Amino acid sequence: MPDVLKFRDIAIASGEKKKTYMAVTQTPGGQPLGFPLMVVNGKKNGPILLVDGAVHGDEYESGEAIRAIWRDLDPGALAGAFVGVPVINVPAFEAGRRANPIDGINMNRIFPGKLEGFISEQLAYYFYHEILIKCDMVIDMHGGGIALAISPTVIYREIGSDELQARAKELAYATGVDLVWKGGGKWGGSINVEGMRAGKPTITVELGGEGRCLDEFVLAQRKAIENVMKYYKMIHGEPELPKERIIAPGTFGFSTKGGLFRTTKQLRDLVKKGEVIGTISDLFGEIVEEIKAPHDGIIVSQRTFPTIHAGEWTVYVGTYRIEKAG
Ligand SMILES: [Zn+2]
Repeated sequence: MPDVLKFRDIAIASGEKKKTYMAVTQTPGGQPLGFPLMVVNGKKNGPILLVDGAVHGDEYESGEAIRAIWRDLDPGALAGAFVGVPVINVPAFEAGRRANPIDGINMNRIFPGKLEGFISEQLAYYFYHEILIKCDMVIDMHGGGIALAISPTVIYREIGSDELQARAKELAYATGVDLVWKGGGKWGGSINVEGMRAGKPTITVELGGEGRCLDEFVLAQRKAIENVMKYYKMIHGEPELPKERIIAPGTFGFSTKGGLFRTTKQLRDLVKKGEVIGTISDLFGEIVEEIKAPHDGIIVSQRTFPTIHAGEWTVYVGTYRIEKAG
């Protein structure tokens, strides 16, 4: 890695810790609009790890984990560099919404972005071209946002060369997160898919939500990042890895009717095919739709926000296959 890291006009010398904004554009009122960048450039040689959060503006746990790690990292002891973007989608964060309310765009569908585009496209462009492609590996952090609760899950994708896929799987396993979802190339335009297409091992960690920012999930997010840093010898210590993992590719359930959604299940409950795992009722209390488990499996994530429209996510049931470590 180079001694001085450069992200556009921002330079971070070896042994330096810096927090600043990457300027992107400006608001109608003339205020600068960009996203925060928090870098620790270690004195020792090692990989450049990018960790991003809040590409969806209502996902809060990852930003807290990134800020805590940046605060505690000692550049003198760090091998490689930690590059944190705690919130990419600043307009969506300000509104407390998943998508940017100004242009209505879901930012995680439009990478690598567009220089002469809408605000979301410009933010994505600078994140991808000025930061992501200059890093060695990427942890893209997500959460349940306002509407969902998610049990900690790590996602890696089978895209690109065998070697790249193996490196992505290794990175995913290094998080120590024991629910694993292996995906293909679906959802192009996401950081996960486009990072892999750029040749960078890229994984996603999903957890938390319910419109909150609970310590439990902030700590889980932090632990996943620090496990990776320990695994790749960026910081001292042994990663805490599970003895077995649950391999849980699965199925998203969608509503076909609007109403009031409720579930009786908890995250990680085991369910049987055909079992009712959620209901949608009308304003008189009559059930208008039952959401049933599409197959035997485990509840990986579920909607917790009651108002539901037709076509929205309800419950994600993962298949349940145990894989022993080793
Ligand atoms: Zn997200």
